[in-house]
Amino acid sequence: MWGDTGTVIIEPRVVKLTTRTEVDVKRSLPHARLRKIGAWVFMDHFGPTPQVDGMTVAAHPHTGLQTVTWLLDGAIDHRDSLGTAQNVTPGSLNLMTAGSGVAHSERSLTGPDTLHAVQLWVALPDEMRNMKPTFEHVESIPVVRFAAINAQVFIGELGDASSPATVFSPLVGAQLAVSGGGTIPLHADWEYGVLNVSGTVSVNGESVDEGSLWYSEPGLDRLDIDGDGTAILIGGEPFREQIVMWWNFIGRTHDEIAQMRMDWNLHTYPPFADRVGGWIPAPEMPNVTLTPR
Ligand code: MN
Repeated sequence: MWGDTGTVIIEPRVVKLTTRTEVDVKRSLPHARLRKIGAWVFMDHFGPTPQVDGMTVAAHPHTGLQTVTWLLDGAIDHRDSLGTAQNVTPGSLNLMTAGSGVAHSERSLTGPDTLHAVQLWVALPDEMRNMKPTFEHVESIPVVRFAAINAQVFIGELGDASSPATVFSPLVGAQLAVSGGGTIPLHADWEYGVLNVSGTVSVNGESVDEGSLWYSEPGLDRLDIDGDGTAILIGGEPFREQIVMWWNFIGRTHDEIAQMRMDWNLHTYPPFADRVGGWIPAPEMPNVTLTPR
């Protein structure tokens, strides 16, 4: 698929959030060249940006996926239609399993000077995607060391470390503090991505620019990482189901997505209080039929 090495470097697109600020996010997934990595279907990289330009995203829904919010710097206040009010700061994880549908809002908090975060989505397998929504805040993030690489495994498993966060398919998400070289053992039948979020990072001898995502299809049994910086590693068993991903929803058919859109715009979700106010209506559906892929 990607020539001899089975790898490619993805440059993120710059996207305007539906937000009250003018700050852009860098989106590496989905990408024209790469739709998923395991069950990971969405990867946004936000900042680093001064907190005064932080994020404020009003209430909006999700279905059929998990949102994974991991901060490198700053603080974000999460509120949702389950009644959750949970700040997330560096070193802990906010994990929202949307299942049949949940709404949330997000607002970065002053105090820390800088906001720097990734937000990722994991597609739920068909048998779990209509489950009751749940929310988890995970404080006990396991750490594993590979020579000069320190890995915080916020979800899934890496080496001997396994996060207590709930997952529904074999995967990993980890922050790598890189201060020299180290070798990370992989599952040879998984695919992996390494996002350079700051500094210098090279993967198996390939230099990855700040903001870019290095990807490998299945087949590798190790990553040789070197540099002086920070990276986010994601990976997983290839997700074989075809999905329809539109706006904040993941379904399996066009009609299902149209119904999800209608449900949100007709206010069928439980209301919840937050410090943001308002809500984000779902946009018009496109004039073409959405097809699973
Ligand atoms: Mn969201």
